Amino acid sequence: MKSIKELASSGDMEKIFASLLPLFPQAFRYVNEDLLDKIWDSLLPALEKRGVDTRGRSRDQVVGELMKEDGVQLASEIDRDPFKTLIRTILSARTRDDQTIKVSSILFEQYDTPKKLANADPDRVREIIRPIGFYNSKTKYIMDTSRMLIEQHGGSVPNKFKDLVALPGVGSKVANCVLVYAFGIPAIPVDTHVHRIVNRWGLVDTPDPKSTHKQLVDILPRKWWLLINDLLIRFGKEICKPIGPQCDNGCPLAPCCPKLVKKTRGKKRTKPRKPGNKK
Ligand code: SF4
Repeated sequence: MKSIKELASSGDMEKIFASLLPLFPQAFRYVNEDLLDKIWDSLLPALEKRGVDTRGRSRDQVVGELMKEDGVQLASEIDRDPFKTLIRTILSARTRDDQTIKVSSILFEQYDTPKKLANADPDRVREIIRPIGFYNSKTKYIMDTSRMLIEQHGGSVPNKFKDLVALPGVGSKVANCVLVYAFGIPAIPVDTHVHRIVNRWGLVDTPDPKSTHKQLVDILPRKWWLLINDLLIRFGKEICKPIGPQCDNGCPLAPCCPKLVKKTRGKKRTKPRKPGNKK
């Protein structure tokens, strides 16, 4: 069987994604009709393996029923309101999704527009978001961002990467999340799950999410960009976990994965150079 890297080089990435999608059906929302047409046949073995009866039922019926299943809620995709997506994603840094969703929902009960948040009492905002990490800096980020949206973007969230990363507290991952989850614009948000998993797959060999993003943009055909973050976060939370990946316990990629598990933990160590050795 070909390795994941070989599948990627020969343009067969659907074999990878098709074996994961039936396990995390919420991710189907990022697969458009054209893509579904192309990958449906590849999905059938994994659907059957999962016990899904596809006989006599239309594709839409099968997918529709699968998507009704409860899945883990991800902070960036709770709704498509660009302002809420932006603020939630800023708040989600180093915070569990369920906690971010809970706290941001309370925040939006009072401050659900840039104007309201920009004019809020910082102490009140800080108090609300206190249960999540880094609440002092996050209070400043979300209030400054709200002000900048009003002053420079007429109170709307921009849908261009360069404008998004100019906002306080918005880095490449947050900007790409907003593009994907709020605007449906293909982009690759690389968080710790995506970074860890594609390194374990041997698809990239990178020390940090920024370098992973750079390489993935070259390697991954654009049709997969909307899907990859959502699917790999779900896969990373349940199967390819940071600690104790389920390689021998039901991971469908085990036969083609090089399982480079240790390589992604911490920065790559380089050999100490011997004194006087210039090589
Ligand atoms: S769980 Fe193991 S086999 Fe599966 S993708 Fe992760 S490292 Fe590879």
